[in-house]
Order: sequence, then structure tokens, then C-alpha cells
Amino acid sequence: MHTLSLRELADGLAKARFSSEELTRHFLARIAAHNPALNAYITVLEEQALAGARAADKQRSSGDVHPLTGVPFAHKDIFCTEGVRTSCGSKMLDNFIAPYNATVVEKMAAAGMINLGKTNMDEFAMGSSNETSFYGPVRNPWDTNCVPGGSSGGSAAAVAAGLAPAATGTDTGGSIRQPSALCNLTGLKPTYGRVSRYGMIAFASSLDQAGPMARTAEDAALMLQVMAGFDEKDSTSIDCTVPDYSASLNNSLKGKVIGVPSEFFAEGLSDAVASRTRAALSEYEKMGAVLKDISLPHSHLSIPCYYVIAPAEASTNLSRYDGVRYGHRCDNPLDLADLYTRTREEGFGDEVKRRILVGTYALSAGFYDAYYRKAQRIRRLIKNDFTEAFKSVDIIAGPTSPSPAFALGEKVDDPLTMYLEDMYTIAVNLAGVPALSIPAGMVDNKPIGLQLIGRDFAEADILNAAHQFQLQTDWHKQFAPAFA
Ligand code: GLN
Repeated sequence: MHTLSLRELADGLAKARFSSEELTRHFLARIAAHNPALNAYITVLEEQALAGARAADKQRSSGDVHPLTGVPFAHKDIFCTEGVRTSCGSKMLDNFIAPYNATVVEKMAAAGMINLGKTNMDEFAMGSSNETSFYGPVRNPWDTNCVPGGSSGGSAAAVAAGLAPAATGTDTGGSIRQPSALCNLTGLKPTYGRVSRYGMIAFASSLDQAGPMARTAEDAALMLQVMAGFDEKDSTSIDCTVPDYSASLNNSLKGKVIGVPSEFFAEGLSDAVASRTRAALSEYEKMGAVLKDISLPHSHLSIPCYYVIAPAEASTNLSRYDGVRYGHRCDNPLDLADLYTRTREEGFGDEVKRRILVGTYALSAGFYDAYYRKAQRIRRLIKNDFTEAFKSVDIIAGPTSPSPAFALGEKVDDPLTMYLEDMYTIAVNLAGVPALSIPAGMVDNKPIGLQLIGRDFAEADILNAAHQFQLQTDWHKQFAPAFA
């Protein structure tokens, strides 16, 4: 059952081939057997999941239900979940029991989906390898000596190893797409404002978006359907109709123009990933799409721009962890200043501290114009690149990540090299447009991803293109051999 897609599971439940309780027990047993080796979950919600599954079975037997009723999944531990520890991968929130549900959590529950547990992640979603988690690193099911990517590394590993059929993730600079690429999943970052951020612990508020991580584009469409929509509790949520994402999956790609930015194939990309990505792109030509060389001339500025804006917003967002209201508090503070200082010294890890320092510096009076304002201007140029490109193309495509999964420990002491992991994903967050990563082949027996970027609110277009690719290829069906 753990190799089936969400769609197949929903089908099986509808035809009573198995019950939600059986399904949930199966995944809980897999978690018990394999999580010790992978560390994909921080919290497993065994009793709650089984109770939910029994309720779902009852509901299903007594009438019309949402198609995903009784289908298990996992939440990244960044989504506030009422009555459940919500740690955000940090010691700071190790003791935090959320008093309310994030909107995404509410929506999944309202659809009758069963939350198996909360997945491991880089601390406060800062990282590309899941090595900054207070709960220890996650291992990649394709090669347990390698990282699963980050920051949604626990979600990626859980789905790739069959410890959940799908999971939620969040993406501020690549954290859904890059781990999806490294673990052979389909992961989608929606347009900024498409999915509510209410109750999703903030990292960089102008960039954060939640999205689905699943095996297939079909599954991602089903899950996005549940997650998306206007929320008055999020001031940046956009009130525009949510289309039926499954309805357009089978549209023909004949005549569609796919822009291939030269900057995505320049220095920094491994040769093997480049040629595999080009081979994947040629599939689109076979389907009748047209590949067009384009340029996103400011892409080389996206990493420096992001590493001013994201830390600046993070330093502001993380100022709330002061030991007063919730979360970790140091023992026996001498006075208020000591309480703040020691609480934060003890509660945050090194990468989080680095971001707070950089962000506070960039926002400080003497440097604001030189860094923060400058970065905002560059952000506009990056957005304009996409607007310009989408005048002549329907979709932009390229690699998700410059190389396949790397070894644990390989980049962790070299933040600048680690930051380059997101060289193709970050511009998308700065521009706010939607993008996804799909399995696109193997390099050194490890999966790589193809990234498809769409116009604002054109999630349906990139899901359509992803699904058509998956009808022609089998990469997404490959399952991490050690966990099959
Ligand atoms: N790897 C990037 C960072 O460390 C992006 C993280 C994310 O998308 N949450 O900030």
C-alpha cells in the first residue's frame, strides 16, 4: 500500500479494498520500522491518527465524503497543530504545544485526511540539507549517507520511503522543490498568497508558501486543491477563484512554448545534471511543445538578494522568541536582559543565529539603504525578468538543483556553498510565481528534478505539464530500493 499514489489510495478506500484504519496502521507500522534509520518524523500521532481513521471509515460508510477522506499524510512540523507539539525543528519550541490549528491543518482535517505526524525540518526552515534541525539530521532514503535536502527534508524522506503517501512542505527559497528533487518527488510551491500562511511558523513572511509534496503531479493537484484558497486570517492571502487542478491535467501541450533560461545552464551546474535535464526537456518536444532559449538576466543576483531579505524578515519574525510568552526559557534569569540573552543563546542553533545577525545588521539604521533597500530594488528587477519572459513563453523550465543529493556533513560547515543549492529556486520565491519539481532521472543512482515555473496563479498549467511528462516517463514511479 505504501507505494500507491494518493489517487490510488483514495480509489481503494472508495471501493472498500481496504479501510482507512488498515491503511493508517500500515503506515504507522512502516514508521515504527523505518523512522529510526531516517529520522523523518519528530512526532508520530499514533492514537490520534487511528481515531481519525476509524471516524473516517464510519463517515465513509454513512454517505458522501471528500475523495481524500481517510487518506493518511504527514505535516511538516512548521504548521501549528492544536494540542500537538509544533517545534519548527528548534529547541526554542521543543516544549511548544500549539493552542490552535494552522489554516492548512484545518483544511486537511476538514477533507477527512489523517495526520500521521509531524516531520523533521531544518530549524525554522533555514537550510538545504535538514542538518540544522535540533532533532538531528534526516537521511535520504535513496542513499542514507546523503542528505534529503531541506528544509522540508523530513517530509521528503517520509514520502520517498513510504512512511506517508504525501506530506505538506513549505518553501521560502526552495524548501519544497529541492528536497523533492533530491528524493524523487513531485513538489509544488504555489503562487505567493495562494495558500494561507495563518498558523505556519514565520521565517521570511514575504516569501513563505506552503505546498504539497507527493509522488505524482496528479497527487499534488489533489492536495493543492485541499490546501489552496482565500483566508481572511492571512493579510497576504489572495481572494481569487481556485480552479479545479485535476480538470486540466490532460490538456495537450501542443504548441506550448517552454522557455529555457541560459542562466540555468551556466557555471555551477553539474555536467551530468545538465545533460539529464536537457534529455528531460526533449520529452516536451516529443509532446509537441516548443523549447525556446530565453534569458533571466538578473538571476545571478537572486542568492545575494535573498540572503539580505530573508534574514531581515527572519530577524524581525524571530524576535518574538524571548522566553516570556512561550517556548524555551533559560533557568534562573538574573534580570530581563539576562532572560532574553540566555534564552536566545540556548534556544537557537548556529544557522538561525547567523541569519538573525545578518538580518539585524542589514536592517540597522546606517546600513538599511545599502543592503535592505538595495535588495528590494533587485527583487523588483528579478520579478520583471519573469514578467518579461512570460510575454513570450507559457512555462519556464530548467534544473531544480545543481547536483543530486550530497553526503551528510559535506556542506554543513560552509554556509555559502550550502546557499548555492537554491540557485535555481530562489528567484521564484522573490518573484512570487508558482513552480514545481518533478522526478527527471538519475545521476549516480540518485534522483534529480526538473523545475517547471509558471505565471502568477498558473499552478494548473505547471501541473498539467508535469502530469503529461509523467504519462511519458517512469522516473516518478521509481521507489527508493532499500525501502520498497
Ligand atoms: N535553503 C534556503 C534557506 O536556507 C531556503 C529555505 C526554505 O525555502 N525554507 O533559506
